[in-house]
Amino acid sequence: MSSQTIRTIARLRTFRIPPRNGVAQGDEYGRAGHGIALCVSCGNIHYRKQWLQPRSVSMRELNRRGTPITRTLCPACSLGARGLYEGELLLENVPPLLEEEIGRLIRGFGRRAQAHNPQHRIIAIKRERRHWRVTTTENQLAVKLAKKIQDSFKRALLTISHSREPYEVGRVRLMFS
Ligand SMILES: [Zn+2]
Repeated sequence: MSSQTIRTIARLRTFRIPPRNGVAQGDEYGRAGHGIALCVSCGNIHYRKQWLQPRSVSMRELNRRGTPITRTLCPACSLGARGLYEGELLLENVPPLLEEEIGRLIRGFGRRAQAHNPQHRIIAIKRERRHWRVTTTENQLAVKLAKKIQDSFKRALLTISHSREPYEVGRVRLMFS
């Protein structure tokens, strides 16, 4: 990781920490239950210390009550917009015959993770021949995805490494033999 990236991550962390278990830490929005933040990119809503799916809160009702709305980028969109991530999964020697199935598994996993917590997302899947790189908004998400792939395709070997604190970027490598 370049020192520029590390500095950028450090800077990001000074103004927000991604939600853990759906609860934002260092919460700077809606203090004491006043007001909400609305992500201008994905429509996630920060309300009562949690990021929620769009439509889980009635905007009409909030408008009616005169609730202050701050327009912002949520932590997940903010990571993606800056080319950053917290979890990285490297798949190596992906067998061409399994490409389609693995792609489907990753996308399905991403959909379920996001449905469970709107801030848990797959940011990107980049494929270069037999080497794939999947980035996620949360480090444990990359680990869980790797284990899921390993369970489904027993011939993959799993290596998990974590960058040194305080950056908390989880890097997982899966090699297909
Ligand atoms: Zn967003």
